[in-house]
Amino acid sequence: MTTDRLLKWNINVDPMCVFCKLHPETHAHLVCECTVTSRLWKDVFDRLQMQVQLKTWAHLVSWFMEKAKKKYVEGQLMRRIFAEVLYSIWNERNQRVFNRIHRDRQSIIREVAYLCNVRVVSKLKLVLQNKPL
Ligand SMILES: [Zn+2]
Repeated sequence: MTTDRLLKWNINVDPMCVFCKLHPETHAHLVCECTVTSRLWKDVFDRLQMQVQLKTWAHLVSWFMEKAKKKYVEGQLMRRIFAEVLYSIWNERNQRVFNRIHRDRQSIIREVAYLCNVRVVSKLKLVLQNKPL
């Protein structure tokens, strides 16, 4: 749960974003609008060789929703990338808050690329073997 929601429940937490420490931690800020996480998204798009102008969380979701409608493999890959990047941001946030462990952006990107590769390729293998996903 992001700190803005914890504060609404009167739970005493540091309200600032754990990544940039400049803005209050809201869901939209944490997963997209923070300079640190927006740079992470930019790195992902660069690896995909896609030009995407990230403006807001709503814009990012809308962009991915459109891409997820694509034919089987591309849509599946975009859904996987979206989920893995969000999970990595949330996991990194929790590692920093609770364990004081920081990874650099490149480590996170490598993990996302590895997980997407493993999970998409394993699903494609099932398809090729005519097994249910
Ligand atoms: Zn931030």
